[in-house]
Amino acid sequence: MKRPSQALDPFLNALWPFFKSATRSFTDRRISLWFALVALVVALLVTLVWLAGRYEASQYQAELESDTVNAVGDIRRSLNNHALTLQSLNAKSLSAKSWRLEVESLMGQHREWLRVEKRDLQGAVSEFVTSPYREPLFDGNTRLSEQSEIIQTCVRAKRLNGPAYSRTYFISQASGLGFEVMEMCLPLIEHGASIGYTVITYSLQDILASQLSETYGRRNEISFIEPDGTRLAVHGTLPRSKRLFTATQLMDLPGNTLVLRMDGRRVGPDLYPNVLPALVTAMSIALVSVLVLLVKDSRRRLKAEQDLADALAFRKAMEDSLVTGLRARDLQGRITYVNPAFCQMVGFSAEQLLGASAPMPYWPTEMVGEYQRRQAVRLAGNAPPREGFESVFLRQDGSRFPVLIFEAPLINAVGKQTGWMSAFLDISEQRRVEEMSRTSQERLQATARLATVGEMASLLSHELNQPLAAISSYATGSLNLIGQHQNLPGQSDPPELNDLQMALERIAAQANRAGKVINSVHDFVRRRDQAREAVSPRAIVDAVLPLVQLQARKLHVQLAVQIDDHLRNVLCDRTMVEQVLLNLARNGMQAMDHPSCLNRVLTIHVKRAASNHAQSWIEFDVIDGGIGISEEVGQQLFTPFFTTKSEGMGLGLSLCRTVVEQHGGHLEHEPFLPNGTLFRFTLPTQA
Ligand code: ADP
Repeated sequence: MKRPSQALDPFLNALWPFFKSATRSFTDRRISLWFALVALVVALLVTLVWLAGRYEASQYQAELESDTVNAVGDIRRSLNNHALTLQSLNAKSLSAKSWRLEVESLMGQHREWLRVEKRDLQGAVSEFVTSPYREPLFDGNTRLSEQSEIIQTCVRAKRLNGPAYSRTYFISQASGLGFEVMEMCLPLIEHGASIGYTVITYSLQDILASQLSETYGRRNEISFIEPDGTRLAVHGTLPRSKRLFTATQLMDLPGNTLVLRMDGRRVGPDLYPNVLPALVTAMSIALVSVLVLLVKDSRRRLKAEQDLADALAFRKAMEDSLVTGLRARDLQGRITYVNPAFCQMVGFSAEQLLGASAPMPYWPTEMVGEYQRRQAVRLAGNAPPREGFESVFLRQDGSRFPVLIFEAPLINAVGKQTGWMSAFLDISEQRRVEEMSRTSQERLQATARLATVGEMASLLSHELNQPLAAISSYATGSLNLIGQHQNLPGQSDPPELNDLQMALERIAAQANRAGKVINSVHDFVRRRDQAREAVSPRAIVDAVLPLVQLQARKLHVQLAVQIDDHLRNVLCDRTMVEQVLLNLARNGMQAMDHPSCLNRVLTIHVKRAASNHAQSWIEFDVIDGGIGISEEVGQQLFTPFFTTKSEGMGLGLSLCRTVVEQHGGHLEHEPFLPNGTLFRFTLPTQA
């Protein structure tokens, strides 16, 4: 099994060793389970076959035993029949010759009869007939060796009043072979009185052959045995086979008890002699085949599972590495899937999003209505434009961001639409770049306009210099004239003359100042080196104060000027710095020109600035109690041409900052609580 890619969850990576060992132990367990199953099935099959064999053997044994019982019955029945036949022969009271004839014909039918004798009550043989099939067993008429045995049997027969049987004994023949024989003695009764006996000598071998050969002799070996197992007579042959079955049965005869034994061997194929084991075997083969098929199928399944797991891991790694947000919705509009990029985009976890339906947690509240309408259109089956559409989403922290959405129908394996799949691109970075290029474009335009203004200012300063010089010389000329007519002896000066003189002096001073301003602006625009001079901070404030006061009176503003003692001189372009101070003071007073503004005080505070450098600085604070500066206005305060006033130019603050920064200082502002603004600029002191 392959290790998951690094793109996968670190959590998954941490779990990997456990997962691997769990999979290994799971595979081991599965293999041992399969082994156990196969072993069980094999054991079951072997047991079944064995049981079937056992069953078949017991069937055969039972059959053999029943055959033995039947064989004993058959022998007993035929012996009884012999007795009855002989009895009926006796009842006929035949002559000796006729008896012989009758018995000879009977002997032709009964191969097992070796000899039939007629004896008198003392046991002496009166008549006898020997089997036509064999040589005579005994010499002549006598059988002396068995005489006592025969007499005993006959005594028993007389007592029983029926047939009695002797013990078996062996008769050897001249050829070396011999017979096991048995005698049957039957009392002869005439008119209720015993007159003698009929004795039949049976060949045991032939009893078996004649009585049982047909029925049982083909399959079995039949024998008479003694209780100790000695064979007395055998008949039949045994087929060659390994399995031997034996059944014995007692044959109880009056005066003798024989044991009939039947030995049978199973013939035919040993393993499948009948249907049951064959059936069991066939079923076993079928079972094993099914098992093999199952194993193959299970292997295929395992491989498919493994392939699927690999494909899933690959897909997950791919999804996790995407920066595009992915989201799937079902046909009811419920979220069924989100990828990590989407969760990161909106700031909600997958658990928070899955199952959510409209209104979604990432929809801005004011747009819920519009988005719901859009979703209804989509769920009605209308596909969105292929090039995507823009929308705005809300992050969990409340911030908004623009997204580009691409939507496509979600089609399942059978080609049925089950929902919609959407891809999201966060385009806030793209928007920021666009905004930056727009502002830089605007700044470029403003700079171009500023350059034009500079040209204009340069032109104006050139054009205004002459009229200003003329005003100045006319004022000076007028003052000279007044001087000549003043203090003439004998004439008192009219009081208006002094006022006129003062007004002319001011006209001359302001025209002079205007000229200087124009020159400074001209120099500034032309970027010539400004003439830096050491000026006391107080001198700067004093220079702008009359003009500030003039406007303060008009706008009903109170002035508060505070200049700290022992301040060093500042090194600056005096006229331009005066313009800066004047501009800031004018802006402050205009900010207070508002009906809601009750405390109209403009404070100018000059002090030493805190500094840890070798260079020390003087700080000029201009504080008003006006409407203050909103954040929006604050961002564009120093942008050229930005103004909120109907008659404003929007150049004042930008010019002020340029002037201050050209001196190495800085211009900044901050809110002055409870209301108003503090503008502060710094200038370097003379070394
Ligand atoms: P102008 O005075 O011609 O508008 P400025 O560059 O001097 O140009 O000022 C730009 C804008 O800054 C003003 O229109 C005004 O809105 C704002 N502003 C400047 N100073 C103050 C102040 N002290 N209090 C409030 N707003 C001010």
